[in-house]
Amino acid sequence: MRVLFASPFIPPEFITAHGHRPSRVLSAAATDCHQGRCAVAAGFDEALVRGDLGIVVGSCDQMRRSADGRVAPTFRFHLPATWTTANAARQYGDELQRLSVFLQRHGGHAPADLATHLLDHDTRRARLRTGCSLLPARAAAEAIAAYAVSGVVPASDPVAQPPDGRVPIALLGGPLPVAAFDLYDLIEGCGARVVLDGCESGERGLAAPCDRRLAADDPLAALVDSYFLAIPDAFRRPDSLIFSWLERGIAERGVRAVVVRPDPWCDLWRAVVPRLHDWGRLPVVLVESDGESGSRARLATRIEALTEMLG
Ligand code: SF4
Repeated sequence: MRVLFASPFIPPEFITAHGHRPSRVLSAAATDCHQGRCAVAAGFDEALVRGDLGIVVGSCDQMRRSADGRVAPTFRFHLPATWTTANAARQYGDELQRLSVFLQRHGGHAPADLATHLLDHDTRRARLRTGCSLLPARAAAEAIAAYAVSGVVPASDPVAQPPDGRVPIALLGGPLPVAAFDLYDLIEGCGARVVLDGCESGERGLAAPCDRRLAADDPLAALVDSYFLAIPDAFRRPDSLIFSWLERGIAERGVRAVVVRPDPWCDLWRAVVPRLHDWGRLPVVLVESDGESGSRARLATRIEALTEMLG
């Protein structure tokens, strides 16, 4: 069966190992989400249809309320906000075991060849990560979106783009719907370039490279390491993974500013902005996601002002 989920913390290889077909929803409700409802949560509800299985990760109130209509059997994955204790890591592993029971009860089988599936997906994600460091931001985001939906990755190796003089920036926020990918073009048109895609739909949402020996010996432990202990997100406490991830972006890709794009109804990502100001390492620009449909000119003015300041 098709198993839908929105969170980057659900390993697609775990679902495949149970004989189901994983597909991650990167928001189907880009422009017409309801008042007070974030596009990610609304998009997930729109995408889930009869005949599917759903997995809802309770990392924020909006997602916790998702799939309340229950058109399809839905598993509620309890993801701890804390991540630095052994108990929290154990809870993530326990939730995967509980998910396994759900997947088997709904037409799947006991997990088979989990290590093989994990190593296969690790190889695919390595190719995507290489693309993120070499390709234009939009092409890299399109490749990650295709992987999220169906698991496919580009067959050929990416070719590095020559330097173009644009200001290298990081983009940070929840998932960027495919329908809003022209934000990458707008940023380039304003003289900047996204070299570190911190949208949930971008490379920030990819699991970390796995320890291949651990994957062979104890694939569940390897999933805990690569997903739970590695993916930076706004709901995590402490939130230090976001800052260490940005520090790496500064060191490896020369990031010079951060553009934050929260959903209009997302308190979690909005709360990251003052934290970034306190951190003080880079200039921060807040870009409202409803600017994609309405005030493009205002959005462009803000990014142009940033590039002029840094140019
Ligand atoms: S964008 Fe914000 S409100 Fe929406 S699902 Fe993500 S964390 Fe929750």
